[in-house]
Amino acid sequence: MNTADAETLTEQFAEIGLSPGAALEDADLAVLVTCAVRQHAEDKAAGRLGELAEWKRSRPGRMIALTGCMASEHGGALLRRFPQLDYVFDVRDADGFMARLRDLYGGTLEGPVPLPAGDRLAAYVPVIHGCNEMCTYCIVPFVRGRERSRGVEDVVAHVRRLVEGGVVEVTLLGQNVNSYRDPDTGTDLAGLMAAVDAVPGLRRQRFLTSHPRNASAALLAAIRELPTACEHLHLPVQSGSDSCLRRMKREYAIREYRQVLEDARRAVPGIALSTDIIVGFCGETEAEFDDTMALLGEVEFDTVHIQAYSPRPGTAAHRRPDDVPLAEKKARLQAVLALQRQISERRNRSLVGQVVEVLVEGHGADDGRPYGRTRQNRVTWLGRSAAAGSVVSATVTDATAWQLTAA
Ligand code: SAH
Ligand code: SF4
Repeated sequence: MNTADAETLTEQFAEIGLSPGAALEDADLAVLVTCAVRQHAEDKAAGRLGELAEWKRSRPGRMIALTGCMASEHGGALLRRFPQLDYVFDVRDADGFMARLRDLYGGTLEGPVPLPAGDRLAAYVPVIHGCNEMCTYCIVPFVRGRERSRGVEDVVAHVRRLVEGGVVEVTLLGQNVNSYRDPDTGTDLAGLMAAVDAVPGLRRQRFLTSHPRNASAALLAAIRELPTACEHLHLPVQSGSDSCLRRMKREYAIREYRQVLEDARRAVPGIALSTDIIVGFCGETEAEFDDTMALLGEVEFDTVHIQAYSPRPGTAAHRRPDDVPLAEKKARLQAVLALQRQISERRNRSLVGQVVEVLVEGHGADDGRPYGRTRQNRVTWLGRSAAAGSVVSATVTDATAWQLTAA
C-alpha cells in the first residue's frame, strides 16, 4: 500500500512541477512514506530520519516531510520528537501539503513535469482503502480509517492508463480487498476483476489481502474463469488456534478457515495458497502454538509470512500483558520457519517436470539469466533467453524452497 501511495504522490509532485525522481544527493525535499504495523517498522523510519538529519544539514534549503501510517498515528507530535522534520501530512489528503509546496517553490515551478516513461511491468492499484474489522492486535483501522471503495470505472481507467504505460500485471490492493463494493452499483471484487480482465493488453491480475470471512464462491469462480486472474490466494490465518483467534477477534474458526481452503483447491486446480502468521500473541500458550504448527503441517501452504507479535498503542490487545517473552517469540518464529521451509521445498519439488507460465520480469545482475514469476507467484529462473515482459512456457527442472528453475 505504501508503494502505491508513493506512486500517487509521485504523480502529484509532477503535477505541481517538482521532479519526483531525483536522486537523494541532488534532491531538495525528502518524503518518508512510513508504516506503523509493527514497532520495528517505526524504528526503521526513526533510523532513516536520523540519517536524513545529516543529509539536511549538508545543504541549506533542504526539507524533510513524513507521511503514511506513522503520520496518522502520531501527527504533529513527530515534529517535536524529530526536530529535523519540516512537515507531517496525511497521505489520504495530500492537497494541503501540495499547496504549501507550491507556495514555497512557486516562483521556480513551471507547471506539470512529464514523468519519465517507466519500464515497469507490474503495478499496484488500490481499490479499497481502510478496514472495518477490529482485529485486537492491529493498528490499521486506526491509521487507515473505515473502508472506502473506488468505483469500478475509476479502477478500470487507472488500469488502462497503466497498461498504456507498459504495465502487464496489476495487483488490486486493499487491507480487506475482498470486502470491495462499488459505492454506486455494489459490484463486488469478482465483478471488478471481470471488468479489469477486459482491459486490452493486460496479461495478469492478482489481489491482496483477503479476509477469510469474506472469501466467496464468486471470487473463486473469478480466479478460475478469468484469463488474467492468477491462481493464487493470500489468506492470512494469523493463528491455528480457535481460542487465540477469538482473542484476536478474527471472526472465524479454524474449521471454517480450512473449509475455505478446501473450496479454493477444489474450485481452482493448482491454486497456490499463502498466509500470514503472528506468533507470541498475548497469552499464546504452547498448546495454542502447537495448533498453529499442526495447521501448517496439515494445510501445506506454498508461502507463509511470519511475524512476532508487536503491541500497538491504542489497540485492544495493547491493554493486555505482552506476556510471551521475546526469546520464546523468536523460538516459535524459528520453528514455523523451519517447518515451512520443508513444506515449501516439497511443494516446489513436486512441480519438477511440469510446464509453468512465466512472466519475465528482468535479468540476473551477474549472469544475465531471465527471471520472472509463475501465475502462482513462484519466482522462476529460466535456462534460455527471453525478453522482459514476455510470457513463456517452460518446464521446471529444479526447485528449492524459495524458487524454481525452468528450461
Ligand atoms: N488485512 C490483512 C493484514 C494487514 S496487516 C489481514 O486481515 O490479515 C499485515 C500483516 O501484519 C497481518 O497479516 C499480520 O500478520 C501482521 N500484523 C498486523 N499487526 C501486527 C502486530 N501488532 N504484530 C505483529 N504482526 C502484525
Ligand atoms: Fe488489521 Fe487485517 Fe484485521 Fe483489518 S482485517 S484489522 S487490516 S488484520
